[in-house]
Amino acid sequence: MSTPRNNIVVMKFGGTSVEDATAIARTIMIVAGRKQKGLHPVVVVSAMSKVTDALLASAAAAHAGRGDREPALDISARLRVRHIETAARLVSGAALTALHRAIDEHFDALDELLRGIAAVGELTVRTSDLIVSYGERLSSLIIAAAFAEQGFESAHVDARQIIRTDGHYGKAAPNETAIEQALLSKVLPLLEAGIIPVMGGFIGSSPEGETTTLGRGGSDYTAALIGGALHAGAIEIWTDVNGIMTTDPRIVPEALRVKTISFEEAAELAYFGAKVLHPATILPAVQKNIPVLVLNSRNAENEGTRITATPPPCSSPFKSIAAKKKLTIIDIVASRMLLAHGFLKSVFDVFDKHGCAIDMVSTSEVSISVTVDSKEALPAICAELSQIADVKYESNKALICLVGEDIRGICGIAAQVFAAISHVNIRMISQGASEINMSFMINEEDVEEAVRSLHRKFFVAPDPAIFDVQAQAAALQ
Ligand code: ADP
Ligand code: ASP
Ligand code: MG
Repeated sequence: MSTPRNNIVVMKFGGTSVEDATAIARTIMIVAGRKQKGLHPVVVVSAMSKVTDALLASAAAAHAGRGDREPALDISARLRVRHIETAARLVSGAALTALHRAIDEHFDALDELLRGIAAVGELTVRTSDLIVSYGERLSSLIIAAAFAEQGFESAHVDARQIIRTDGHYGKAAPNETAIEQALLSKVLPLLEAGIIPVMGGFIGSSPEGETTTLGRGGSDYTAALIGGALHAGAIEIWTDVNGIMTTDPRIVPEALRVKTISFEEAAELAYFGAKVLHPATILPAVQKNIPVLVLNSRNAENEGTRITATPPPCSSPFKSIAAKKKLTIIDIVASRMLLAHGFLKSVFDVFDKHGCAIDMVSTSEVSISVTVDSKEALPAICAELSQIADVKYESNKALICLVGEDIRGICGIAAQVFAAISHVNIRMISQGASEINMSFMINEEDVEEAVRSLHRKFFVAPDPAIFDVQAQAAALQ
């Protein structure tokens, strides 16, 4: 294994942390603080908040427009103004003139693409990736220039030159060897010269040099890939909450900050819907045992959440509750015989063929129920499954997942969970062999109520070694 470079810190700032000039100025101060401590930051930024959604909407509008490109160009025009205004508040003089020109060139190229989609009436995932890449390309350009304006030696690095991926547009897989090589040749020399590299998250390039993306929320993954490849001392995920909380604070405002959590627990939470981290983030960090910190860019003093290999023991059964909506349950009933040998394999082969990940499975003598979050592949999957089974599916389901070390060893824990939500109709249950996750499916409209009830039940007397109970006490005063 490579030697750790403990003085390198990868700092990823999400959309809200770069949403406007004020947020970007705050971000620069946070990075400056790390530099003052003698650390070498690599800065990874998301698109300014809501820009990714707007770019996707512009592509959809161009596609739906049947030759009418104005709605798509309107979205782009509004984004152009927002980026230029932000740049003008952060940069001045000749640097601003150059930045203004670069922003205009990006938007001119984007408009050209949108006109093309409207004219041809076709939108491929590949073109969609190219369109959406403008968000991170623009934010990183502006932020690199803003660093320079503040007197920091910084360099804009085109993430597509670094994050090499396969050609799976929309959700590309990284080529870690190529990424490491690119970092060592293009980014490490900058760090050694005291320069702050600033690059966009989320985007990469295929072996053919085409723009790809790592999937929604993928900037976290970019940071972890860089941290892993450089064997950094830490990966910091700067966001708009104080860290990983006991549940989504938008559902439970009094949710507590989890001070420390294991890689496995954080991975389960991310996979099962805690938007605070991209599901794949943890892997490159786990492989090299690099601590990941989740921190609040609006409250930089807060110590956040530390994700490590060996967190201290916790006397509370659960660390956090995640919820994932927009799921579909598929019930597959063997049509000809009882669950015959090979039936499960044939069923899973169908999902595999369509590249559709299954979240949860439960089986009975003659049937299998699975849950998936992909709607696109559903008709084709069901058509194929119908050849070997009777198939029914129900959408608008949600998965609730409670995560905690060693819950399998706690007697009566399932009874406590289900007693807390006895008024909610439960459709499927699973307690994984991982021993750290208990999940069940409910109707989407019951999610908020179920999460609140579970939170009330399990976080009344939380372990102060693990949870920030002081903040809770202060809030109650
Ligand atoms: P960013 O733009 O910084 O990547 P995201 O919106 O992707 O931020 O993720 C942060 C959001 O994740 C928070 O605002 C919060 O509403 C949501 N969230 C969901 N579950 C949790 C959780 N368990 N702890 C903290 N935040 C959570
Ligand atoms: N901007 C991208 C998104 O909104 C990636 C990210 O922010 O992580 O999905
Ligand atoms: Mg995110």
